[in-house]
Amino acid sequence: MSRYAGSERHMDRARRVLTRGVGSAMREAVRPTPLAIQSAAGSTLVDVDGNTYIDYVCGFGPILLGHRSPGVVAAVTEQLGRGVLFGAQHPGELELAERIIEHVPSAEMIALSNTGSEAIHAALRFARAATGRELIVKFEGHYHGWLDPVFASGPGVPALPGDGSEPDTRWGEPVHTVEGLPASTDTLVCRWNDLDALSALLAKRGDEVAAVIMEPVTCNFGNYEPLPGYLAGVRELCDDHGAVLIFDEVITGFRLGLGGAQERYGVTPDLTVLAKAIASGFPLSAVAGRSEVMAVAHGDGPVRHIGTYNGNAVCVAAANATLAALESGGTELYSRLDEISARLAGGLNELGIELGAPLIANQVGSVIHLLWGAPTPVRTYADAWQSSRAAVADFVSGLLGSGIAATERGLWFLTASHTSEQIDLTLTAARAAIPPVASAYAER
Ligand code: PMP
Repeated sequence: MSRYAGSERHMDRARRVLTRGVGSAMREAVRPTPLAIQSAAGSTLVDVDGNTYIDYVCGFGPILLGHRSPGVVAAVTEQLGRGVLFGAQHPGELELAERIIEHVPSAEMIALSNTGSEAIHAALRFARAATGRELIVKFEGHYHGWLDPVFASGPGVPALPGDGSEPDTRWGEPVHTVEGLPASTDTLVCRWNDLDALSALLAKRGDEVAAVIMEPVTCNFGNYEPLPGYLAGVRELCDDHGAVLIFDEVITGFRLGLGGAQERYGVTPDLTVLAKAIASGFPLSAVAGRSEVMAVAHGDGPVRHIGTYNGNAVCVAAANATLAALESGGTELYSRLDEISARLAGGLNELGIELGAPLIANQVGSVIHLLWGAPTPVRTYADAWQSSRAAVADFVSGLLGSGIAATERGLWFLTASHTSEQIDLTLTAARAAIPPVASAYAER
């Protein structure tokens, strides 16, 4: 009988009633079968067949302390006893806003939402209201949630041709959100890590651009870092052209450190979008920005930031407990996370060399992205796009059989609960999983 018989039965039934049989389309990609999970604790998952896994999916990023972190469970349980949603203010949301402002450099005022996509949408609206302009510049391969207009040119979409300098390419042009539907005319796509490309685009269209939005580390595909001086250069270009700079720190926020990527790289955007790691798996997101820009949603400002579930007491309790744990763990917690993540990525890279496989594990903090056969160092989406997505998926699928769960596109997250022994087990499993993929890849 298949090791995954219960998950297979689950998917057979689910495909009749849930779109693609899953709650979020990405989850369907898991091979040999998408897993149905029974429970999770710390850094471990148990599926409905009773198989246990070292978890590197981590809910696609929100799980940073580990599943069912005791402080979070206690805070949420306590809040459940006092009520979930009041349609009114409560002490927890005030505490949370003050905490975010203490830690995140761009944060002078906070607007709470539920998901990353929603908060991105709020940030774009704030930027448009603040500038009176319409256009958004986004970067190739960056992901900002599923809402129009930024659900375009994201990870999984082929790299645009050329280097962004030729006028006859699609660089700087409006992009399609769904192929076959009319192009979104208010989003322009630019090449990331290339100041000349942004400079040229803003020279042409700068006076129409409300916001430049980016993932400050390209977590969603390739996980390569900004080149030295790049973020500061973008900051300057945005200032020169009066555009609002938005950092999408949905993944990096609180994961790369209490101050996120902006603290790590020393460049402060106008608006920051936070979600995922802030609330340990509970849906809570925030726009955290400079007062001058946030003023559009404050006092007499023209934007009304609205939402039934914004600041609901249970998710806020989860966020306060998460941040309290991160604060008390301090730099030690983050340096340990960095250290075990570096050991895992370093081990995978060494195995690649030893076994003659072109496996690359790009690590920044507790985020790792695997590529296979991409040129190194990876600096652009076009570099990352040369990776064999099939080889990465085959490798990850091989690991699943040894009790290692990671996303099929090669994005891995670590938590404060992962142990050194688990890293060793993962590397042992990788040693066995690499050769068959390498042989298949060599024959392609
Ligand atoms: N931005 C980034 C960088 C993300 O990784 C994601 C989700 N993977 C989002 C935005 C959207 O967040 P959500 O799925 O909560 O809407």
